[in-house]
Amino acid sequence: MASVTLENVTKKFGNVVAVNKANLQIQDKEFVVLVGPSGCGKSTTLRMVAGLEEITEGNIFIGDNLVNDVPPKDRDIAMVFQNYALYPHMNVYDNMAFGLKLRKFPRAEIDKRVKEAARILGIENLLTRKPKELSGGQRQRVAVGRAIVREPKVFLMDEPLSNLDAKLRVQMRAELSKLHRRLEATIIYVTHDQTEAMTMGDRIVVMKDGLIQQVGAPLEVYEHPVNVFVAGFIGSPAMNFLEGVIRRDNGQYYIDAEPMKLPIPQEKAAQFRKIGEYIDKKVIFGIRPEDIDDTELMASPDPGSTVVATIDVVEPMGSESYLYATVGPHSFVARVDPRTAAKDGEPHRVTLNMKRVHLFDKETERAID
Ligand code: ATP
Repeated sequence: MASVTLENVTKKFGNVVAVNKANLQIQDKEFVVLVGPSGCGKSTTLRMVAGLEEITEGNIFIGDNLVNDVPPKDRDIAMVFQNYALYPHMNVYDNMAFGLKLRKFPRAEIDKRVKEAARILGIENLLTRKPKELSGGQRQRVAVGRAIVREPKVFLMDEPLSNLDAKLRVQMRAELSKLHRRLEATIIYVTHDQTEAMTMGDRIVVMKDGLIQQVGAPLEVYEHPVNVFVAGFIGSPAMNFLEGVIRRDNGQYYIDAEPMKLPIPQEKAAQFRKIGEYIDKKVIFGIRPEDIDDTELMASPDPGSTVVATIDVVEPMGSESYLYATVGPHSFVARVDPRTAAKDGEPHRVTLNMKRVHLFDKETERAID
């Protein structure tokens, strides 16, 4: 069993609480991504699992074993770092074999494992090359290969793709996901890149200021963020946040966001169990850019949630266009079809899909559920 469990794990560096009472259960063979902005404590969490950082409080288990005091080499883990630090004077084969040689594995076993890893990673033809004769992506594969040959129970990866260019990163992202299925191993992966987290993880763990904010499947977190931070961090371009007051008129809820008066569809309002407590109170409402459409391009736009916006900037992306728009004091981004006729500086009608609105308490910034 290669589950990994964190129980109330805290790490302090002097006065800095890098990780604050983290609780997390990672299943055997799961691919879990720790994601959050710089300094949120994700690397420290990974390094504690690896045994590279002492735990201030709490317990870490790998399988059923409490590993708090187990040295890294005895934890049955392998780590892949951002700067994969291959040995420059060794060829690819020797780079991959090195760890096993140190551990005095028989030569035949080493050969078998290196060749198998090279086959899985598609680098069989590179085994005699030196690192300087490889591209960035190939070097990254060798670094992953060096971890694979160890056949660890758990792979720990800290921003392994961040030194690669954008195109290669996308390609390696897909390769690592495939590799995960193939290896049937537990992977804990750290990144600050929410797209990487969304596309790779079975589950993602969103962190901020040393605290775990939310744990869930990527789409679950995307659809049901627990607070403003998670809502704004996951998704690109980020969710729009606007201020408004909840009103109720003839049984109909709406958001009063002068000059907009946006009805909340009945079935949506029913999902906010606590909405009644917020009548005539200020809230933050969130709407994702893809949930705001160019009215002209819609088959049957809802007039109730259609507004005339001033388009500040149209940003054509090819497959879609971003409209940076303003209505009264409110600014937002809409992600629309690239055939939009919206023009910089001109008024244009957009429709908010209020079935997909998110509501947050203005004080606590927690989702109103
Ligand atoms: P990044 O994406 O920038 O690597 P991170 O989310 O991985 O950030 P950590 O490296 O885990 O964040 O750092 C969490 C906090 O702990 C930060 O405030 C950091 O400054 C602090 N910290 C990390 N390592 C040490 C250390 N060895 N000594 C003192 N403070 C540290």
